[in-house]
Amino acid sequence: MSQRDYFEKDYYAVLGVPKNASQADIAKAYRKLARELHPDSRPDDPAAESRFKEVSEAHTVLGNADKRKEYDEVREMVAAGGFRGFGGGGPGGPGGFGGFPGGTGPFGSGGFRTEGINVEDLLGGLFGGGGGGARRGAGPARRGRDLETDLRLSFEDALAGVTTTLRVAGRAACSVCGGSGARPGTTPVTCPTCNGAGVVSSNQGLFSFSEPCRTCGGSGRQIPTPCERCAGSGVETRSREIRARIPAGVRDGARIRLKGKGEAGSAGGPAGDLYVNVHVDAHELFGRRGDDLTLRVPITFPEAALGTRLTVPTLDEPVTLKIPAGTESGRTLRVKGHGAPTANGRRGDLLVTVDVAVPRKLTKTQRKLLEDYAATDDTAVRWRLDDAMAAARGA
Ligand SMILES: [Zn+2]
Ligand SMILES: [Zn+2]
Repeated sequence: MSQRDYFEKDYYAVLGVPKNASQADIAKAYRKLARELHPDSRPDDPAAESRFKEVSEAHTVLGNADKRKEYDEVREMVAAGGFRGFGGGGPGGPGGFGGFPGGTGPFGSGGFRTEGINVEDLLGGLFGGGGGGARRGAGPARRGRDLETDLRLSFEDALAGVTTTLRVAGRAACSVCGGSGARPGTTPVTCPTCNGAGVVSSNQGLFSFSEPCRTCGGSGRQIPTPCERCAGSGVETRSREIRARIPAGVRDGARIRLKGKGEAGSAGGPAGDLYVNVHVDAHELFGRRGDDLTLRVPITFPEAALGTRLTVPTLDEPVTLKIPAGTESGRTLRVKGHGAPTANGRRGDLLVTVDVAVPRKLTKTQRKLLEDYAATDDTAVRWRLDDAMAAARGA
């Protein structure tokens, strides 16, 4: 990146923050964008990757209060038109360095010739921030990979919610040193070269430029006595158990994200997430439709025709519902509040569908009664079909 680029880019726009944003706001905006655009979470997305670099570059400058001040000052000057001819080696135009003290010629005595910040090298240092654990000199910090696991639940457990133990294999914080990378009883020490900053600055004229500390690789720390298990990396591959609370009402096929429960990051990078794919066993009686439960209840023809009161099971106590006279087979009745728990703390409904059952065998008496009934039945149930066939015949 050349000097010119450095000052011509609008880093505030890149991070989407106003010029007067606080350092905290800048850090926040950067973390959010970096997480969204990180190549680990968007592999094979060149647009995201170049945007990620831009964002990192912007943060390298704006994230550091001193560098930001310089950047603001120079940008102001550029905007005021007093900054021509810089970096090119040609004669400066009128105005030269404007108000810079000592700016006698086109390039003054300070000069802007330093080739700027090497963003690639700095990326490592930028990512060590947030998520706990000591930073180590083990290359650039990387977010841990996301992991995935399956969880099978009974119908009842899915509705009630459970706290369960998931077993996950992958890179995790070292079980011996707890992720510090230092042998138990010892601690990482502050890097003597950079005093823990992870970067060393050199003053070149008016500007000071920073590069990652070579002693500690940008981590700001050194581990005099590395942990034997992880060789100082703070990370090991092992199977671990994770306690997870599965919310009440979870559905079959749900994918639950447990933030930070994936693989451990490297060199102090944040952990990935763990995705839990939930499989819910079918229930002997109840089905599920969204937040509602479903239940099919056989009733007899006389019950359907005459109406009745029906007691049906629910997840709680059985409830009694009224089947009105003349209920057709397949009709669904709604029992409020006896469904699955919903996200807002309420309950769905129980949908009871009645099926009129037809007896396979009849006693002599029943047959006689039905024959008598049939003889009195004058309802033309198939009138639509009869009409259609009559019309087709042209009658
Ligand atoms: Zn260890
Ligand atoms: Zn250092």
